[in-house]
Amino acid sequence: MSTRANAGGLVFENGKNVSVQSMYDHRVESDPDYVVGRLHELHAMGCDLFRFSYNSTQDREVFREICSRSPMPLVADIHFDYRLALDALDTGFSKIRINPGNIGPKWKTMEVVRKARDLDRCIRIGLNSGSLPRTGGNRVSVMVDTALEYLSWFESAGFRNTVVSLKSSDPEETFAACLEFAGKSSCPQHLGVTEGGGVISSCVRGTWTLGRLLSRGIGATIRYSINGPIEKEVQAGVELLRTLGLRRGGVRIVACPRCGRYSFDSEGFLASVEARLLQSQKDVTVAFMGCQVNGPGEAKNADLAVTGIGNAVFIYKKGELYRKIDRCDAQKAFWEAFEEI
Ligand code: SF4
Repeated sequence: MSTRANAGGLVFENGKNVSVQSMYDHRVESDPDYVVGRLHELHAMGCDLFRFSYNSTQDREVFREICSRSPMPLVADIHFDYRLALDALDTGFSKIRINPGNIGPKWKTMEVVRKARDLDRCIRIGLNSGSLPRTGGNRVSVMVDTALEYLSWFESAGFRNTVVSLKSSDPEETFAACLEFAGKSSCPQHLGVTEGGGVISSCVRGTWTLGRLLSRGIGATIRYSINGPIEKEVQAGVELLRTLGLRRGGVRIVACPRCGRYSFDSEGFLASVEARLLQSQKDVTVAFMGCQVNGPGEAKNADLAVTGIGNAVFIYKKGELYRKIDRCDAQKAFWEAFEEI
């Protein structure tokens, strides 16, 4: 049994270089330039691996172009039809995700496995508690046993470039399944609580579940499943890895919650600059503080801090006042200061 897998040069190993994954939320239609542009932005934010639904061969040529221009390895998500998996492997995806349980007879899955083996591609066995081949009994054990059985199929064909995911919309079920699987197999795991809901519920459920697994050295890739913008999924994944000390670099944003002393629209200012900050590779802390009275002191450890009162905006560098400007010039001054730190 292999403890490592790789897709397009990205190595998956539990507890090591944990990668952040997300997924496209539309069909790609016929606009590869737009999709490739999104991929570059998401990659700059810290996304390492990106998945697309591969629903039909109609989009094959668009996907071929996207695969050839993508800044990160791409994964094709396949359901039901093994021929789509074969097609995706020909199209240039580095990895495919299948659930053998919905592919049909075993021979269909094995055709996909042999092709992935011959082309040196990766496969994720993606199990979901809602679509298991057997019902009844302990769902966690059924998930784990099913994943081990599929793994043995793959290994019987000499294929070891495999990642496994055991997902449920129930955080405790997901946690228990991933933990039990890790006790029986060192195969790299992709972690996620599926169908997490909106931003807040997904982040809470995902962080509680994935954080406990990652802190035990379980998990090679992660995804937050958010009913919301893709960027939020990437931001949440990166933030979790940084919080656990599993990733370094990038802009660390801090902001006060605001209180009765608040005199500066720190929320609005942060919203206006956040997307660009999150794409920066600078290893710095930037603070957005709600008042001129306490903000500078509370943010004195930040590399850059911004606050204000009335029409005046104050920018601090390493705790020292750097510039006082009019509100309408604040964005320009902020970016100038950011470039200098
Ligand atoms: S920085 Fe000012 S507005 Fe923000 S929490 Fe502190 S005292 Fe309140």
